[in-house]
Amino acid sequence: MREHVKAGEKSFKGIPVSAGVCRGKIIVLRENKPSIPHYSISDEQVPKEMERLERALAETRRQILDVQRQVQEGVGAEHATIFDAHLLVLEDPLLIEEVTRAIQTGKVNSEYAFSEFAQKYAATLSKIEDDFLRERVADIRDVSERILNNLMGLDGIDFRHLKEPCIIIAEDLVPSQTALLDRNMVLGFGTDGGSKTSHTAIMARSMQIPAVVGLQDLSKRLETGQYALLDGYNGVVILDPSDQTLFEYGQLERKQVDLQEHLKGIHDQPAVTLDGKHIILSANVEQATDAVAVKACGAEGVGLFRTEYLFINREILPTEEEQYAAYRSVAAALKPAPVVIRTLDLGGDKFLSHLQIPQEMNPFLGWRAIRFCLQQKDLFRVQLRAILRASVEGNIKMMYPMISCLDELNKANALLEEYKAELKCENVPFNPDMEVGAMIEIPSAAVASNVLAKHAKFFSIGTNDLIQYSLAVDRLNEKIAHLYEPTHPAILQLIRMTVEAAHKNGIWVGVCGEMAGDPVLVPLLLGLGVDELSVAPPTVPQIKFLIRRLKMEDARKLADYALQCDSGVEILARAQILAREIAPSLFENNI
Ligand code: PEP
Ligand code: MG
Repeated sequence: MREHVKAGEKSFKGIPVSAGVCRGKIIVLRENKPSIPHYSISDEQVPKEMERLERALAETRRQILDVQRQVQEGVGAEHATIFDAHLLVLEDPLLIEEVTRAIQTGKVNSEYAFSEFAQKYAATLSKIEDDFLRERVADIRDVSERILNNLMGLDGIDFRHLKEPCIIIAEDLVPSQTALLDRNMVLGFGTDGGSKTSHTAIMARSMQIPAVVGLQDLSKRLETGQYALLDGYNGVVILDPSDQTLFEYGQLERKQVDLQEHLKGIHDQPAVTLDGKHIILSANVEQATDAVAVKACGAEGVGLFRTEYLFINREILPTEEEQYAAYRSVAAALKPAPVVIRTLDLGGDKFLSHLQIPQEMNPFLGWRAIRFCLQQKDLFRVQLRAILRASVEGNIKMMYPMISCLDELNKANALLEEYKAELKCENVPFNPDMEVGAMIEIPSAAVASNVLAKHAKFFSIGTNDLIQYSLAVDRLNEKIAHLYEPTHPAILQLIRMTVEAAHKNGIWVGVCGEMAGDPVLVPLLLGLGVDELSVAPPTVPQIKFLIRRLKMEDARKLADYALQCDSGVEILARAQILAREIAPSLFENNI
């Protein structure tokens, strides 16, 4: 890690992944999930273990009553009743009996005895065919975590209930944790690992939380309570920033505020180049409520709805009704603008804790996305029916992730036809002509794009994965982040090949990976012939600004140069020159 020392301050360099500057107190998370100690105890130690357990139960009860009171005062009595279920778990005689027995006769420490019981209890309930009982699993897990934290003397960081605004410094944050961050309390975050195209970074950008990743061992060097500044533009964390540094950042922030004000002026304008080419500029969303941000940013619809986030951070899969409501609400909020819903892209760095999916050696190459859905037909059926039903509202399109060959596309489309027939028999309305597309994010799909294009209504290029798979560079691994090169000549050839195949077959092609949101790379993508760009809502104004200052002629020249150049570094340098020339104000964020 590059580490600079200036006038009493220390700065640590990482990878900038989400723009913005914040300053405040740090909370360091070293182990998000503490491991449970397991040791044998002697007969003499039994009373002490029992006493520890009783104290932890009493403390947990006190905490729950406290939270219940706060909720009652803050949001009303009806919401506070959910904590009655938590209190009932605490008072369950079975819990006391079984854990006591394990301590007294099994002679094990109370954390271990309790955690074994809690796991068994939750596993048994989750198998019962009764929705009410199954829903109690979440209560049991929540209460168990509190009891274990109290037994182990931990505070138990709850991302949803931080007590004061802070900067989180963690070894790592998984996407499901990031999705739970309270935007009002988390000023920004820094992680030891991570990369620009991890879903944690993508989530941070969409939530507009300044973030720096790849800080190596920073979580081991800093302590909770220290004061720092985090610069998400340049990828720096500065411990105890000096007055001079704070002054410089004050100036940077003023410039950014001015730029944002200026960008508001083009909110209602289309993304049209200086020589009149209209580019469809859409937004990527992760949840139904993001529709508000899509409208606010001036996008022309949604180019990628990542539906995974409807499935994670919960114990029970979303029902057809719940999914239908989510998809329908986005389409209704944005109609007549299109909303492209991507079917479940589970796996890689997005896991569903409640589905017992075995751990894999290579999760990004494994049982995921469309491969998973084609085998887990019940789950896929629920989602496809929900999307079909929602398609009568607004302008819904659908696409499959991780298509690697025609067979997968055909199989998915055959299932879609089956569910259409089902709905027809049930007299449930749907749009029979809903456009169905394929993501091109596996090299084999790009190479076979001429074949796939005959069976799809559009393509959306997922450059995040296309780069990872083509260059064999894990998109999460900060140690090889320098090899993750969007301007690699091979990547540009694959994009060009896909665009040519799409246009030859009369279909449109977009890019929804993070390349589309990088102002330096946008002229290159447009020069390669891409029709649509889909980016995080906060990035839309900048990309629109750039497009409106670009001539297609210059974009095509850049692409022509790139397609005959052997060096990704040289292509990037050319792209930077053009982008800085046409929109210098987008690049004034260096300190
Ligand atoms: C991509 O791979 O570029 C993409 C948009 O999908 P995700 O980032 O969700 O894998
Ligand atoms: Mg992908």
